[in-house]
Amino acid sequence: MTYTEPACAKLNLTLDILGKRPDGYHDMRMVMISVDLRDTVTLTPAEDGILTVETNLPFLPRGEGNLAARAALRFFEETGLPRPGLEMSIDKRIPVCAGMAGGSSDAAAVLRMLRRVYAPEITEARLEEIGALVGSDVPYCVRGGTALAEGRGEILTDLPPLPPCSIVVCKPACSVSTPDLFAQVRLKKLRYHPRTEELIEALEARDLEGIALRLYNVFEDVLPRKYDQVFAVKRRLLDLGAMAASMTGSGPTVFALFSEENRATEAAEALREEYRDVFLCRPQ
Ligand code: ATP
Repeated sequence: MTYTEPACAKLNLTLDILGKRPDGYHDMRMVMISVDLRDTVTLTPAEDGILTVETNLPFLPRGEGNLAARAALRFFEETGLPRPGLEMSIDKRIPVCAGMAGGSSDAAAVLRMLRRVYAPEITEARLEEIGALVGSDVPYCVRGGTALAEGRGEILTDLPPLPPCSIVVCKPACSVSTPDLFAQVRLKKLRYHPRTEELIEALEARDLEGIALRLYNVFEDVLPRKYDQVFAVKRRLLDLGAMAASMTGSGPTVFALFSEENRATEAAEALREEYRDVFLCRPQ
């Protein structure tokens, strides 16, 4: 028997850093959405007791270095159930190291599948707790949809979905190191913070313009000059008619909201002439 589960990319409508904690992590406040850009994770129980992961991207870890494998190991450790052999296969569509939580989403898909097959009695909250042991974004990815994530990312509050819109996602060809970016954050020098409460009100009012006005990611303020491509993509998207554009997570991917699908389609086509990783998405 083979089981299949989609793993959706996440985007940050907002990303705020509230402070550094004694445990070395930062206290975050983020509004996240899932979009229909997905990896597909398949899982086949095997007789031999061995755990393997293969993907269509040869540079990704194949064994326990893969977040999907780590999620499976954690699941069986935490539930105390005997671990069977597992062959996992991931068809990657979400760009890697892009700020879209691709690896975390694969891990979350594995957790959802393992619960379905081996332990349907486990609650969603418990599954998210197990996810938090794998990575800070995993609890959100277990749940998906629109949510406020606080703490390290594990304190989740569901929010109303985005009103219907089109989203263009573009990853410039550079990668940003997340730890380096956190190191750039001098908390006292963060001059602006997202208006998270106002964004939530706009979501509740289904006010796409109000939402677009409040997209904000504090990492953009500390992005070193060598990543200026991020701002070039933002400008390009705005010139192409986007309502607003913002970086997601620790970048370098930029996304933009469009109220009209044909404008978004045209913008994606124009960007594809300059960038390889361009996707036309919808909120999931
Ligand atoms: P986030 O938005 O959560 O910061 P990201 O989108 O920046 O994540 P990912 O693509 O999730 O980054 O993961 C990047 C790192 O994780 C890479 O070093 C990659 O080798 C490793 N990794 C392990 N497993 C996976 C996986 N299944 N998919 C993608 N990357 C993985």
